Amino acid sequence: MRYYNPWQALLSKIKTAGGFVNAHAHFDRAYTVNQDNMDGVVYDHLYCKWLYIDNYKESATMNDYCKNIQTALFNQKDMGVTSCLSFIDMDSIVGLKALRAAKLAKDYAKGIGIDFKIATQTLKGVVSPYERVYLDMALDTGAIDIIGSLPAADRGLEGSHLDIIFEMAKRYKKRIHAHVDQLNTAAEKETELLARKTMKHGYEGMVTAVHSISIAAHNADYRSEVYKMAKDAGLSFITCPTAWIDSRRTEINSPTHNSITPVDELLEHDLIVAIGSDNIHDVYKPYSTGDMRTELKFLLEATHIYDQEALVKIATENGLKVIGSYHDRDRGTSKS
Ligand SMILES: [Zn+2]
Repeated sequence: MRYYNPWQALLSKIKTAGGFVNAHAHFDRAYTVNQDNMDGVVYDHLYCKWLYIDNYKESATMNDYCKNIQTALFNQKDMGVTSCLSFIDMDSIVGLKALRAAKLAKDYAKGIGIDFKIATQTLKGVVSPYERVYLDMALDTGAIDIIGSLPAADRGLEGSHLDIIFEMAKRYKKRIHAHVDQLNTAAEKETELLARKTMKHGYEGMVTAVHSISIAAHNADYRSEVYKMAKDAGLSFITCPTAWIDSRRTEINSPTHNSITPVDELLEHDLIVAIGSDNIHDVYKPYSTGDMRTELKFLLEATHIYDQEALVKIATENGLKVIGSYHDRDRGTSKS
């Protein structure tokens, strides 16, 4: 008698449902780790790595960026991904050369049969008018599908950062994806801030929180309040399981949890969750291959979610919803 292999059964259901959707990545810096910069990547904090990447952004040519993005797209396709969204760096260091490369890669993606969308990554923040101008120019190119946000890039001014992002999103009628609560600490309350700003700006249903790991470091009452607020704001979520599973040990007490978006609780509150690879072979995650099968496996093991129907939705349909590609094929109309 053949034994039942739930993992193979799950993968086959995902294939039948149209293939993986990688809802969060940074293809422009994929494959940029090398033997020289490997030395510094082991112990440095995230915020130091943001500076590291400046060296690459300064020296890389548009051709280098084309190569990174196209190689990532080719490999994603090879690993069963049919739709994906990549953040692309744009600021005073890199200018728009990575974006121009990503725009060209859209044609390449179409050619190999993969739906490729672009979000803005502004590592230098958006509060400074000197940096914000790059976001304005990027939006004017018409290549941007989603406005990306990184409130921590404007440390101490996270609220102002989000106000600027919401105003731009409303002006250009774009969805927002914001990196929030990345550091697995109760000191962060960025998902709450994002939900409040969404409601303040009347942008319910148009905003996705990327990571939201620090929710898990708070007590049950706070978590429950955040989930209710997220529901009211129509906030959706993207988890990138291997990205933060390496969160460092500290002596700070918090509820026992794995360092991952609390997807089990998000699902209990009927919130939409999608999944992404985040970084691929760069200084942030030198060993990460971007294989969505690895991401899904980490998610189900770290959160104890065994419900295959829920996992298939996370890997496919929910990804399409958050990247704005979910179409009712029968009627040919967009649902999101
Ligand atoms: Zn990211």
